Amino acid sequence: MGRKFFVGGNWKCNGTTEEVKKIVTTLNEAEVPSEDVVEVVVSPPFVFLPFVKSLLRSDFQVAAQNCWVRKGGAFTGEISAEMLVNLGVPWVILGHSERRALLNETNEFVGDKVAYALSQGIKVIACVGETLEQRESGSTVAVVAAQTKAIADKVSNWAHIVLAYEPVWAIGTGKVATPAQAQEVHLELRKWLHDNAGAEVAASTRIIYGGSVNGANCKELAAQPDVDGFLVGGASLKPEFIDIIKAAT
Ligand code: PGA
Repeated sequence: MGRKFFVGGNWKCNGTTEEVKKIVTTLNEAEVPSEDVVEVVVSPPFVFLPFVKSLLRSDFQVAAQNCWVRKGGAFTGEISAEMLVNLGVPWVILGHSERRALLNETNEFVGDKVAYALSQGIKVIACVGETLEQRESGSTVAVVAAQTKAIADKVSNWAHIVLAYEPVWAIGTGKVATPAQAQEVHLELRKWLHDNAGAEVAASTRIIYGGSVNGANCKELAAQPDVDGFLVGGASLKPEFIDIIKAAT
């Protein structure tokens, strides 16, 4: 079975109520391929999730940008997977490089979070990616394999995971990976899944690219055989996100 193209919009820590309303209005008015062809998931900050969910067209979904590693309780400032379920939020982004780097989230911690969110019925966009230093020292594949292994160690069913390859040096920098660079790592990740999680998981898991994707570079990236979609930051706040949704069509 083919892998349905997936486009995620990571709004990060941006927006006011007015700005959010404007972005959603633009999305709601856009003419895009049907949800049978492209899966669109936008990820506003937690505080806007119910608001966005209530306004957003029904063929688009929402994701949280994080959730707690186990059942909620005495964890001040955290949001639990149970709360996301309660609000009807179907997706969560976990392991984003900004959280790995700024909040010291380890591979193991991210693996635990992915497993817990899945156990509660939430689908996961799991992010992996190397820094510039790691790329230049030739360890890209080892780094993303270790990040993926930490997830695979805790998870046996990949049906509800989208794997996002996001080279850290490409995030928010305007320095997008070339289509060849993206394809090379995506193929390595698919091989890793094949060897460690099985042929079926490798064939069916969507591997999406993130890092300075925009309306101008998305088509060429989308044409790569192992690029199954995008996780978009900056451009997901702009009307060009619509062009990215249409990148594969
Ligand atoms: P960017 O961010 O598109 O602004 O580079 C991507 C991401 O962090 O998911």
